[in-house]
This record gives sequence, structure tokens and C-alpha cells, in this order.
Amino acid sequence: MSIEYVSTICPYCSCGCGIDLVVKDGRIVGQEPWKEHPVNQGGNCPKGKNAYKFLYSADRLTMPLVRKNGTFKEASWDEALGLISAKLKEASPEDFGFIASCRNSNEDAYVMQKFTRVVMGTNNIEYCGRLCHSPAAAALIPAMGSGAMQTSQPEIELADCIFLAGVNIMETFPLIARRIFRAKAKGAKVIYTDPRKTATARYLADVHLQLRSGTDAALINAMMSIILAEGLEDKEFIASRTAGIDELRTFLSKVDLKQAEEITGVPVEKIKEAAITYAKAERGCILYDQGMSQHYVGTDNVRNHANLALLCGHAGKPGSGINSMRGQINGEGSGDMGCLCVFYPGFKRVGEETAKLFEKAWGVNNLPTKPGLTYIDMLYKLSYLYVVGGDPMMAVPDVNNVKKALEKVNFLVVQDIFPTEISKLAHVVLPAATWVEREATHTWIDRRVQKINKVVEPPGEAKPDWWIMCKLAEKMGYKDKFNFSSSGEIFEEIRNCVPQYKGITYDRLSHTVGGIHWPCPSEDHPGTPTMFLEKFNTPDGLGHFQAVEFKPPAELTDDEYPYVMTTGRSIFHYHTGSMTRRTPKLVDEVQRGFVEVNPEDASKAGIHNKDMVTLETRRGSIEAEAKVTDEVPSGLLFVPFHFSESLANVLTISVLDPSAKCAETKVCAARLKVKG
Ligand code: SF4
Repeated sequence: MSIEYVSTICPYCSCGCGIDLVVKDGRIVGQEPWKEHPVNQGGNCPKGKNAYKFLYSADRLTMPLVRKNGTFKEASWDEALGLISAKLKEASPEDFGFIASCRNSNEDAYVMQKFTRVVMGTNNIEYCGRLCHSPAAAALIPAMGSGAMQTSQPEIELADCIFLAGVNIMETFPLIARRIFRAKAKGAKVIYTDPRKTATARYLADVHLQLRSGTDAALINAMMSIILAEGLEDKEFIASRTAGIDELRTFLSKVDLKQAEEITGVPVEKIKEAAITYAKAERGCILYDQGMSQHYVGTDNVRNHANLALLCGHAGKPGSGINSMRGQINGEGSGDMGCLCVFYPGFKRVGEETAKLFEKAWGVNNLPTKPGLTYIDMLYKLSYLYVVGGDPMMAVPDVNNVKKALEKVNFLVVQDIFPTEISKLAHVVLPAATWVEREATHTWIDRRVQKINKVVEPPGEAKPDWWIMCKLAEKMGYKDKFNFSSSGEIFEEIRNCVPQYKGITYDRLSHTVGGIHWPCPSEDHPGTPTMFLEKFNTPDGLGHFQAVEFKPPAELTDDEYPYVMTTGRSIFHYHTGSMTRRTPKLVDEVQRGFVEVNPEDASKAGIHNKDMVTLETRRGSIEAEAKVTDEVPSGLLFVPFHFSESLANVLTISVLDPSAKCAETKVCAARLKVKG
């Protein structure tokens, strides 16, 4: 019998907390928080404390499965990859798309986009970051030069005002919430925008702006007009580090605060309190998430919060900036690696010049030069799809329509660790290794690259994602371009293609607890916890203001659908639930989907706590248990999106942000009744 303690990183949210696993005879049997790890310093949240349990779920995929006469049959790797290769050779570049995931490692994601561009000849490569944080790049690249988080997690504790914009941080990033408690203990104030009175509102917020869903732009415009009227803008910062203030000033001069109150539902006095608190702070730190950005005006919303940060000089110093809170383990890294239809690795924009650069790096010709299709468009428009590590049948709005489109696809490959809703429609299902069954790097929320070592063997025939892609490329005649025998070899190629990662090596990562923040230009560079200390990453080095007009939500309530429905997360579950719903302790905490209803609305509709109710929108209907609570104001319903049998995305609307192509999953019109 052998017992080992192996340190690794939590597989869930993008904080990147350390955990210690207890391994007995090649099987993980227990875990503890990694005490010395700088991200979590001895703590883990409920998901992190139960991180490995799903590995041993009885329904792990362990063999390739090929659909024959309507049922899946086990197949060898040779047979499954041979079939995929033959089918993909039929596809034209315009008809093939690859959907990667925020859960893939950097090495996996890099090989997937390279496969799509080199073997399939298309930029139709996306990952699920498109569905939540694409407004970050769309808004912040023009405004400041990068969509990545601008400060590091520990530096949040330096802020004396923390503005939580649409991020219920107590449930979604509990270990960052702990840092905010520490900042509060030193006197920091917390401003929080959320239509719901969540745990974050109750325990962290000093000023809770309980705005109507989708009215963020009106609120921020009002805050900025107050700051200018009070003369609280940072004049020196504006003069030396920004451009465009005059146009913004002219635009904001027309803001009517009473009208802002009517639109947002937030009293002017509260808006004033928030504006003055943020403007007077020494270091203001905006942390935002999907509540603010998952709207058809998500790019506008992010842009407007960037305006606010620039106006008050809250950027370019530790513990400040506007910081996108990417939710999943490799939300940052999969984007860095080029799993986006408009960016090659390193956020090099798709075009002739970039294609030439990568043709040289990869030793190939004719790389695609035109932008590919975005995530949701691919589902509706393509006939050959390869989906890894995610479930569009749960994660994408208006799922009933997505299902109709996917049922018509000629050939669908799904690669994952468990059967999922989308794998039910696949022609071939491939078994992947989980995060501790292979060696890899990921890049966590604050551009922190850490290495995860292999701890146990994958079950049966499950393999690392990068291995599968390389073997498929070999079958399709590209062995020499995908001749990687380890993830370390892939990382060496990444370092050569992605300047931000140039100075990061496997060897350095093996000796650096807590990892290294990109950009890291050379091997003797310590990494960069804070961005933009001297200048922004825009062509002129300045931060750019751009005025944002408020636009109402795409679907408004009416007599037929009188409630606003919004969606979000629970602390006990993770995204589409494929891992947490196979973790007994977490299932015990929250077993099924629910809808939060205000007591006044429940009473009018004759609904009692725990009644089964039917919730309907113009897209479809679901059944869920009613949770009668004053966490939601009258007129608002909240549905978590983790539960396939009460699937929130059956109801949500597929109206897309024109710049970022992210959907408006945070607002739609709904109706509710006791289940008949
Ligand atoms: Fe894991 Fe995130 Fe929880 Fe840390 S905060 S233990 S990374 S889920």
C-alpha cells in the first residue's frame, strides 16, 4: 500500500486555489486545502473542498463510442478516429466548426485551434468564453488595450473602494470575497449592483444599487455626471493618460438624474453615494461579471464601466482597474491560445499579416485570413461540428431552437469526460482525461499561469484532449505539424507563438507556487501582476473614453409575460453541472433547479414555497420548484442555469450583442403559474 500527498489546483472557478490530494494505491481518497498556496491561503469553498469526487462517478466515459443504427457501440481509438477523419475530409472549410471549452488546458486549446486552422483551413474556432466574457475584449481592447483582468487577486486587498458590478461574488468567487472582507476590515467600501438581494448584498455591500436588470448604462452615466458636477474627476490622470474626455463630458451634460432614477429604479441619493464613494477612493477596483455583461448591450456596459474607471483615475495601479471575472478554470487561457474566430494565439487579430506570421511559425501555407463564425452562429449554420468539454445544449440561450439545428447536423463529434445533453445527439463520442489525469497548464483569472501535474491514470481508454487532437491530425495527414509527445513540447511551441508567455517555462512553473502572471517577456522576468502601470496597451498608449447611450432590454414585459426573468449561479454548482451534480455532498446541498419568487408575487399567484411551478417565455417552458424569498424584488424571477431538468436556457432569448456576439441571457419576459 502506498499513500502520497500531491499538491494541485482546484478544477472549478478561475481563482486557481491550491488543494492537496491524498492518493492511495493510485486512487484519490481524500483532500485538504493547500495551506501555503498564495491564492487560497488555507481555504477552499464548498466546490473546491469536494473537488475530486466526480472522477469516480460510474458513468465516466471510458471508451470511444460510435453511433451505429441509432445506438452507441464501443470502438477502438483507431476505428473512431478513422471514421472522424473520413467524415471531416468531406467537409469544406466553410462547413466545419470547432467548439472548445474554458475547461481545456492551454495545451489542449492551443492544439485545437491549430487543428482547426491548419487541418480544416478555417477560423471557425470558438470556446464558451464567447457566451459570457466576450464583451471584455470587444470593449476593453479599444478602451485600454486588453480584455484581461488588470490587477491581481491579492492586490484587490489594496483597494479602498471595490465596485462589484453584476457579480454575486460570495457565491461565484468565494475566495475573492474573503479578500474583500479583509479590505473592508481596513476601511474599504463596497458598492454592488445587482437586482437581487444576494448574500453579497447582505454581507459585503456598503451601497447596494438594486437596479432593474439591464439598466447598467443609465446608472453609470448618472454616476459619471454626478462625479463631473462635483468636480471629483481625476484631472491629472485624464490629462496625461486618456483621450476623448470632451466628447464624454458633452454627452454626460445631458444626463437627467430623475430620469436615471426612473429607468434604474435606484434613488438618486443612492446613486450619488456610490458615485462619490468611488470617485473619492484612492484605489477603486471594479470587478464585474455576467450580471453586467451578459446582455445584448454587454460591450456598451463594459465600455461604460471603463469610462468610469478612467474618469476617476482608477486604472494602472495595483488594486484598481476594470476587471472581468471569468468564471471557469481556463476562461483566460483558452482565449489566450486563440480559440476565438477573430484571434490567433496571443490575441493576434485574424488577417493576412497574422496568417503569414503563423504560416512561418507552423511551417504551413494558406492559413485562413477571414474571421470565422462565432459560437452561436456555428451551431445554427454548420454541418460538421466538433465540440469539446462543454454542453451547448445547456449553455446556449433558446435551447429548443439549438436542438432543432443540431439534429440536422451531418456529423457531430463530442469529446468529454461524461455523457452530456449534446452527446446524446453525437455521431461519435470520445472519452477525455480530467484535469488531474494529465500534465498541463491553465491560466486563471488574473493572468496567473500555473502547472498541474498528473496525479492518477485516466480510466479505461480516456486520453488527454491534446493527445486525441494530435492523433486525429495524424490520421488526416498532418503528423509532422502535430508531432507532440508531451504537453511540455506543446507549451514550448506556445512560448514561441504567444509573446505574453515567452518567459514562462514548465521548469519555472514547477518551482513557483502560485504561478506567474503574463505578460512575462523573458525567463528572468518576474511576471506582471498589475497591467498598464506606465501606459495602456492601445496604439497611442492612452485610455479611450467612448460615450454609451442607454438602450432598454431587448424583450420587455407585457400583460402576457409580466415578469422579468434573470439567470445565475449557486455556490454549490458549476456551470452545466456535469461535475458538481456527480458530487454527492454538493447534490445534498442543492439537488434540483428552482425559481426564486418574491413573496408578494407568490401570494398573488397562489404559490407556496416548494410548490412545483411552470415558468414560460416565448421560447418554451420549464418546471421548477418555487423558492419564495425576498432575495428577488417583486416582478423579478431568478433561475440558476445548472439543472438540465429545469433548464433556464430553454427560456432565455438569443438576441446577440452586435460587437461581442454574446447573448442577452440576463433579461427576458416570463410568466409563472402553479404546475397544472
Ligand atoms: Fe475552487 Fe474557486 Fe472555490 Fe477556490 S474559490 S476552491 S478555485 S471553486
